[in-house]
Amino acid sequence: MKYDYLIVGIGLYGAVFAQQAHAAGKKVLVIDKRTHIGGNIYTEKIEGINVHKYGAHIFHTNNKEVWEFVNRFAEFNRFTNSPVANFKGELYSMPFNMYTFNKMWGVVTPKEAAAKTCPHLLSSVCLSA
Ligand SMILES: Cc1cc2nc3c(=O)[nH]c(=O)nc-3n(C[C@H](O)[C@H](O)[C@H](O)COP(=O)(O)OP(=O)(O)OC[C@H]3O[C@@H](n4cnc5c(N)ncnc54)[C@H](O)[C@@H]3O)c2cc1C
Repeated sequence: MKYDYLIVGIGLYGAVFAQQAHAAGKKVLVIDKRTHIGGNIYTEKIEGINVHKYGAHIFHTNNKEVWEFVNRFAEFNRFTNSPVANFKGELYSMPFNMYTFNKMWGVVTPKEAAAKTCPHLLSSVCLSA
């Protein structure tokens, strides 16, 4: 059998390339050292739950075409990433914002927060970082 492409590693990149090449009428052979496709985004169904075998993955895009493309192949869960940091027994929402700084230090303005976070630098430098 003759192939147009041999794809070594069928992670997200290899899989998309293979699908696109196949859709364009090319013959593609994919191989992977793992026993499954998907690379690091692979999930295993365990008791009805898709478990991310290599660590949790969140898909981000603001590109409608990309979103429509990926939805042809998988069903996505709605997810908002809202991590919480535990600092000295107090919980803080992330990413940090003025509410965080107010809870931590009682400060109200960005200038006061800058003075707390990097007092050795000029406030304007800290705030623009
Ligand atoms: C814990 C973790 C969490 C992440 N979270 C996010 C996230 O939330 N959002 C996000 O956008 N990205 C995330 N990423 C990054 C994302 O996983 C990668 O950007 C993406 O998987 C890269 O795809 P890839 O096809 O390039 O590589 P991979 O997914 O690594 O696939 C490469 C494939 O090639 C195979 N391979 C390698 N060498 C050989 C070889 N010599 N012979 C045969 N096969 C080979 C591997 O087995 C693998 O299947 C995360 C990564 C990790 C590790």
